[in-house]
Amino acid sequence: MTASSPPTGRAPLMSLADAMTDLLGRIDALTATETVDTFEADRRVLAQDLVSALQVPPNDNSSMDGYALRAADVTEVGQVLRVSQRIAAGHAGEPLEAGTCARIFTGAPMPEGADAVVMQEDTVEVGGDIHGVHIQALPKAGQWVRRAGEDVTRGAVVLARGERLSPAGLGLAASLGLARLPVFARVRVALFSTGDELVMPGEVAPEAMKPGAIYNSNRFFLRTLLERMGCVVSDLGIVPDSRAATLAALQGAAEQHDLILTSGGVSVGEEDHIKPSVQQLGSLDLWQIGMKPGKPFAYGTVRRTTAPAGQGCHFIGLPGNPVSSFVTFLLLVRPFLLKLQGVPADRFEALPTALTLPAHFTVAKADKRREFLRVRRNAAGGLDLFPNQSSGVLTSTVWADGLVDNPAGTTIAHGDPVSYISFAELLA
Ligand code: AMP
Ligand code: MG
Repeated sequence: MTASSPPTGRAPLMSLADAMTDLLGRIDALTATETVDTFEADRRVLAQDLVSALQVPPNDNSSMDGYALRAADVTEVGQVLRVSQRIAAGHAGEPLEAGTCARIFTGAPMPEGADAVVMQEDTVEVGGDIHGVHIQALPKAGQWVRRAGEDVTRGAVVLARGERLSPAGLGLAASLGLARLPVFARVRVALFSTGDELVMPGEVAPEAMKPGAIYNSNRFFLRTLLERMGCVVSDLGIVPDSRAATLAALQGAAEQHDLILTSGGVSVGEEDHIKPSVQQLGSLDLWQIGMKPGKPFAYGTVRRTTAPAGQGCHFIGLPGNPVSSFVTFLLLVRPFLLKLQGVPADRFEALPTALTLPAHFTVAKADKRREFLRVRRNAAGGLDLFPNQSSGVLTSTVWADGLVDNPAGTTIAHGDPVSYISFAELLA
């Protein structure tokens, strides 16, 4: 059906893709950098190319325990070669005497003149007055030798500026002798939750909770998600549903932070104070995104008294419903932070590539919003659906191991191929 739809008084929904493009288009990477211990650099973003000052490995070396020799010296199986020296890892040998072999161990440098290693398992020691070995397999030149520079050549860019470091990346940096690494400064985020109904766990016992009160769950996962992304978090706790308190929290946070992240209060009810407060202190766009969970989403800036106009603190307001908050963080805040941290746009996927897997469930009623269903992979290679997809049911996000990205207006029959994005990718 096309034709003009009847006026509903509601703003049209913005697509998630447009929201993502718009959001990423409004920010530039932060420029401050620092140098940190390589041990401390996991998940940090490199601020400079790492250029190798040496080759790795530094010399040709053996990849086996065995005997180093000249392949051409062995012309038949069973030939005996005298063992003229012994070279362990970390020790340099002498040039190899012609017609002999060197006992050698994994990682030990090849002696000059040797071009192959015969592994220990293909030899038999000869006793008696000469110390020698029977070579049981004809060697080929180059066998079991790791070439100097086969991993890294001198002058190579081993890790590029903008790379987000991983455990393997730290190992690679260390293999170049780098004990400290140049990285972009951490993004400083002020986090607060809004809602007069919120109570902190530990402050009120479950049996003493007043009617209408609920525990603040968003604060726990949002803080943890921010920390996992490498942010420095100032947790401002719960801000009451009042204009004065909201204004004070925003104003206080803007100077020393790069981003203010809030949850709740972004709808347009009269208890939702985020919109007028941010507008008063800067600017705000309140989006209705065509996604489920997570329709209301706000982006804006809060002026800093110390900075020129146009250099306000970023503001993102997430919806209050816990699943909406969680999912919008993963789908929108995550790419926002990657870009802010200095990862170039071509080095991350705002939405990680989905796997196509069969649905072992049905969705009979099409939704007009693009839906992110909480699902879990099963042993039969398909996906099971958590039965309650309400945006308040946090259990769904713990039970699930990922999301099905279901386009707007689409039903799902049992066995249909669907697009699955694992939480592991979104949380990496
Ligand atoms: P709001 O966006 O403020 O209208 O909140 C939407 C729903 O999410 C309400 O049911 C709130 O009680 C709930 N909610 C808001 N903030 C939190 C929070 N930090 N933890 C748990 N639930 C919340
Ligand atoms: Mg609220």
